[in-house]
Amino acid sequence: MSLVPPSAKPRILTGDTPTHPGLHLGHYVGSLENRLRLQDEYDCYFLIANVHAFTTLAEKPAEIRANTIGIVKDWLAVGLDPERSTFVLQSEIPAIAELTFLLAMLIPFNKVMRNPTLKTEIETKGLNRGGGETYPFGFPMYAVGQCADILAFRPELVPVGEDQEAHIEMCRDVALKFNQLYCGVGNRVPAEEHARAGGVFPIPRAKVGRVARLVGLDGVNKMSKSLGNAIFLYDSAKEVQKKINRITTGRQSPTEPGDAANVLMQYVEAFMPGERAADLKRRYTEGDNIGDGHIKAELGEVLNALLEPMRVRRAKLDGAEGDAMVMDVIRSGVKKANVVAEETLRLAKEGMGLGFGERKAGSPI
Ligand code: ATP
Ligand code: MG
Repeated sequence: MSLVPPSAKPRILTGDTPTHPGLHLGHYVGSLENRLRLQDEYDCYFLIANVHAFTTLAEKPAEIRANTIGIVKDWLAVGLDPERSTFVLQSEIPAIAELTFLLAMLIPFNKVMRNPTLKTEIETKGLNRGGGETYPFGFPMYAVGQCADILAFRPELVPVGEDQEAHIEMCRDVALKFNQLYCGVGNRVPAEEHARAGGVFPIPRAKVGRVARLVGLDGVNKMSKSLGNAIFLYDSAKEVQKKINRITTGRQSPTEPGDAANVLMQYVEAFMPGERAADLKRRYTEGDNIGDGHIKAELGEVLNALLEPMRVRRAKLDGAEGDAMVMDVIRSGVKKANVVAEETLRLAKEGMGLGFGERKAGSPI
């Protein structure tokens, strides 16, 4: 018999960390597009990982709070709908913190430290200056916490960018181990059968977006909130064009054959309509009289057409009234999310022989 109560729709869990006041184009193509598309088919939980923001911004709590509001505003501006989906504020879901501790017992320490996503972050965010003395214990711990963020909602799908795949793999491993160890699921039961075979956790799958890894304006790292290489969804039209114009390709003239894999052409491929992108790419690689300046102007226009409706919707959420609306959305999301996460924790604790009594989640914010 399955421990997992039947749900009308399969679930999705995914989220963003409030390390910046808003989201960027990498989020859009890597994850937001999928979230928008799947909002009707799935019971969606979108999480703001505000506790995880403390892994790099512990000295700036006010910033994290403001960023949290900003990211919810971006979600609303993009079209995520709190009527259909649940917005989850991590710090208000106590079951996540408890699950983090419990799951940490099933994940080898070295496996966390070898996690390629974590290693890349330590490198690109400059956290390794001082030989590891500069980042807190909580930083690697966030990889474990993310398993708890996900599993607390027992989702089937996790829409993420490619950079998160290693984390999802770790999450799958810990869910498999938990089900085998505490729910009697046999070693040979395939991942997709775990819930039916009595596991508390369905084994979640990553769903990587249309563009798995959007490169940043620097042309090297992935576009990132923390690396100063992003075009934000709320950037003004002028700012977007300015950022595009600053891209360097090293190409000297419209007749010089260009590199189809450079950052400018990657953006053309990601955002221009297919046929136009293919045409530009051909002319670019052949040096068929097409200047970088021309492409930049055209790309800027396409991007601004995409972003303008979002900017308009976000502007409507400016100020105290918008903040109050965001708080309402957060409050009702927290209520709903706590019901699911508490149920998961109860099932997990029962499986672990820790089912000593029932409790209710603390009163919602
Ligand atoms: P930070 O620099 O603070 O880590 P970030 O820009 O990496 O911020 P996250 O909040 O860590 O953003 O990621 C949120 C989601 O967006 C994740 O699913 C991640 O995989 C996806 N994502 C982030 N950047 C990109 C990108 N450049 N291309 C594709 N997906 C991305
Ligand atoms: Mg990140």
